[in-house]
Amino acid sequence: MLSEREIEQAAWDLGASGRAPDRTVPVAFLLDERPGQRTLYFSRFPGNAPPWAATSAVVQLIQGIHEFHPTRWRHLLRKRIFATAANEMCQGMVKVAAKRLTCPVSSRDHGISLGWEMIEIQRLTPPLLTQLPLSDFPARSDADFLRLARRLASDAAGSVAALLVSPENTILSWAVNRRDPDQNQARHAEVRMIQDYWLRTGRPIPRYARIYTTLKPCKMCAGMIWETAEDVSAIEVVFREMDEGRYARHTVLDPETHARRRACRARNAPVSLISRQLSRQLDV
Ligand SMILES: [Zn+2]
Repeated sequence: MLSEREIEQAAWDLGASGRAPDRTVPVAFLLDERPGQRTLYFSRFPGNAPPWAATSAVVQLIQGIHEFHPTRWRHLLRKRIFATAANEMCQGMVKVAAKRLTCPVSSRDHGISLGWEMIEIQRLTPPLLTQLPLSDFPARSDADFLRLARRLASDAAGSVAALLVSPENTILSWAVNRRDPDQNQARHAEVRMIQDYWLRTGRPIPRYARIYTTLKPCKMCAGMIWETAEDVSAIEVVFREMDEGRYARHTVLDPETHARRRACRARNAPVSLISRQLSRQLDV
C-alpha cells in the first residue's frame, strides 16, 4: 500500500523531472509491488497541450501499458492509477480499460527518497490506418454514412466502425475495431479515429462535424468525443445499434447523467450535444 506522503512525493518527483521541469505537468502513475521490488509505471503530458488533445497522462499510461507490456497489462491495469488531473476522457478510459483512479493527487516534496524502479510510458504514435478511398463514396445522408460504417466494419473483419464527417460531407477520419478481449481495449474504433485525426491535423473535431458509429459509444469513447470537440454543442453523434452493456450506459453523451453534470461543472457551462440512434427501420 502506498502512503499519502509517498503518493505526493511520487507526483512531485515525476512532475519535476524530464524535459519539462514544471510542477504543473500532469502525471499519472501506478505502482506494481512484488516481493523486494516496487516498480512505478508513469506517464507525463505537457501542461501546455491544447485542451482538445486526444491524449493525456492517464490515456498515455493506459494505452501504453497495453501496447508495451502485452503479457502484463491485465495485471498492471488492475492497480489503482493516481493522477494529478483527469478529464472525462481519462475517467471514461479508466472505467473501460483499467480499474480505479484516484484524482487529483497533490504534488508535494516531503524529502522522501522513494528508491523505486521507474518506467516511463512514452507517448505513442500509433500506425496510421490504411485509408480506403472513401473520398469517392457518394454519401450525403445519415443513412448513407451509417451504411458505409457498417460496410467498413464487415470488410475489415471488425465489429465496430466509426466515421468522422465534416459539415461538407467529407470523411475526415475513420477506424474499425474488433471486439477481441486480447487486443488493446483502450483503442476502440472511435478512439482510433479521433487520435488518428488529431495526430494528422493537430486539430479538434470541427464545429458541425458528425460522428457515425455502428454501435453506441461507450464511456471511454464518449469522453474522448466530448473532450476533443472544438464545440461539443455543435457536433452530432449518430449510431446504429444500442449497446446495452454497462460501459455504454450513462455516458457523458447522454443528458441528465452524472458524467454529463460533472463535465458541465468542469466547463462551467451547460451543453446540448445531440447523440441519437438512427432507426434500423431505415435499413442502414
Ligand atoms: Zn468505446
